[in-house]
Amino acid sequence: MVFVARSELDLSRYDAIVAGSGPAGGSVAEGLSRGNRKVLVIETGGSEYRAEAQENYSAVKGGGHYVGSHWSSHWIRMLGGTSNIWGGWCAPFSERNFDRWPISRSDLEPYYLSAAQALYRPPDFLTYRKSVLDQFEYRAISDEDPLRYSDPVKFATFPNDPNVHVLLEHSVGALTASQDGSRVEAFELYGVSEGNRELIELREEQALVLAGGAMGNAQILLASNDGTRASIGDEHGQVGRYLQEHPHMGVGKIICRANALIPSMDEGFGGIRHALFPSDSLYHEAGELDVCLVLSEASIDSTDQTERYLSEEFGPGARAYRVSVMAGRAENHGSRAEGFDPCGWPLLFAQCVVDSDSLEAVDFVMRSLGSSLLDSNVGRLRFDVERVYSDIGGGGHTIGTTRMGTDATSSVVDSDCRVHGYRNLFIAGSSVFATGSCVNPTLTIVALAQRLADYLAKGI
Ligand SMILES: Cc1cc2nc3c(=O)[nH]c(=O)nc-3n(C[C@H](O)[C@H](O)[C@H](O)COP(=O)(O)OP(=O)(O)OC[C@H]3O[C@@H](n4cnc5c(N)ncnc54)[C@H](O)[C@@H]3O)c2cc1C
Repeated sequence: MVFVARSELDLSRYDAIVAGSGPAGGSVAEGLSRGNRKVLVIETGGSEYRAEAQENYSAVKGGGHYVGSHWSSHWIRMLGGTSNIWGGWCAPFSERNFDRWPISRSDLEPYYLSAAQALYRPPDFLTYRKSVLDQFEYRAISDEDPLRYSDPVKFATFPNDPNVHVLLEHSVGALTASQDGSRVEAFELYGVSEGNRELIELREEQALVLAGGAMGNAQILLASNDGTRASIGDEHGQVGRYLQEHPHMGVGKIICRANALIPSMDEGFGGIRHALFPSDSLYHEAGELDVCLVLSEASIDSTDQTERYLSEEFGPGARAYRVSVMAGRAENHGSRAEGFDPCGWPLLFAQCVVDSDSLEAVDFVMRSLGSSLLDSNVGRLRFDVERVYSDIGGGGHTIGTTRMGTDATSSVVDSDCRVHGYRNLFIAGSSVFATGSCVNPTLTIVALAQRLADYLAKGI
């Protein structure tokens, strides 16, 4: 018996209580269970997708490049969370992505390996790099079947693991701090269908892990305010401040010689997407905006005079690739919260903008790619400059609302993902990312969650 009803729960028996059942919460639960710890996962959604559950949680309003339902449609409330619709692209962060983190890639290295395994990926893509052009190297982005954390076979932890209980259609609401402010002593348990609220006390050695997604984690903390002091974790006004999206743009086409840009990979890699990453020096020249260029196989347009000419120039095996950019940040220039959503959660306010420095950096990296192709006479780039500025999409990736750091005045969690000052309160998910990366976040979310589970399994 693993899915439990509220009436049969003895909340004191768990070593940890986790809010949210997506990749972050699921991985914390799985890791703790492996350490023989008992876990309760509390999930707002049910076992099925329900449109009305989505609509009631509007989560974010605001403007900038991402408006309207962009935010709520990218945050799924059901068992398994947003993993029910994710695309499955996985790549580790580069060393340089950790420049402003209190941990480095080497701290995550073993967890990247186990995260790849948990997501059913052959590990070779984690380290494979090949220099293909002056200033650019090739890396593979893993693109296997996306693991749904609601899948009873591939993610068997929720339906079958006796150490992990799951309470559906309940939310972790406002938290209460102890008198001395050193721990969370209670949380509100909210029954979504019944509308009942109950205050649950935490035992001294019980850990509470927030894994409600980048927006959900900020909401829980901001809601934890009894009116007498700052919200829990927000003593320095940092919660919800650094929300970022992950800009995507389709910007060009390459015609090049056969085998010039994409190495022949053995089958051990599984499904992959091909990407070019700027060298460290180009990254610094581009103002430290992390950018990668994803190449997708395309056909040569024989009705186009230029493409026809280039395909003849580069030989019978000439190849064409569409180029799309994934860039590291669209920063929030808005305030943090404004009013409440229909479920009573603080409504986050965001104004995520791809600023002019970022647009210029993408423009610069693309022009550098064009020069490298020309100088090496490997191929030519058709760069659709206008689309950099006019065709900005997002990955539905949200990060940074409870970021990691050593200084409590400029961050929310420490390098163990513990909320500064609260010895039993932890956060899992991309809200703790100190900075983003050009690559998709979930592999790193899972790696960090496994690392947190290892830490918690030793006891707090
Ligand atoms: C269309 C789309 C495509 C994507 N493709 C990719 C991709 O290819 N590669 C990649 O790396 N990433 C991708 N992502 C992002 C990926 O889905 C997220 O990074 C990942 O799901 C985040 O995991 P999480 O567990 O932190 O949050 P979520 O998966 O959002 O799970 C959070 C869960 O917490 C629950 N919850 C929230 N608040 C509470 C509360 N107070 N109490 C209890 N439960 C609560 C929610 O109901 C939800 O089920 C994609 C996202 C979208 C929308």
